[in-house]
Amino acid sequence: MKIDMRKIYNFYPIEPAPAPDALPTGGDLYYECTECSDIVSSVPRIKSACHCGNLSGNGGVLQVKDPAKVKVVRGKLK
Ligand SMILES: [Zn+2]
Repeated sequence: MKIDMRKIYNFYPIEPAPAPDALPTGGDLYYECTECSDIVSSVPRIKSACHCGNLSGNGGVLQVKDPAKVKVVRGKLK
């Protein structure tokens, strides 16, 4: 089942944008894949992946294939 994160959270871009080789992680930080526009937690506790496969993770660790295609956003519950 696919959860639409945007229905649960409001997302705000981190400013200034972090460098692709130093992406921050945190419980309230999410990565938006600029390739497919999916949003994945930066510390995914359950199996998570974006549509195109750039972002995938589980157990609190997110693997990023191409960090240049990531926008870091802060999620706040609606
Ligand atoms: Zn993607």
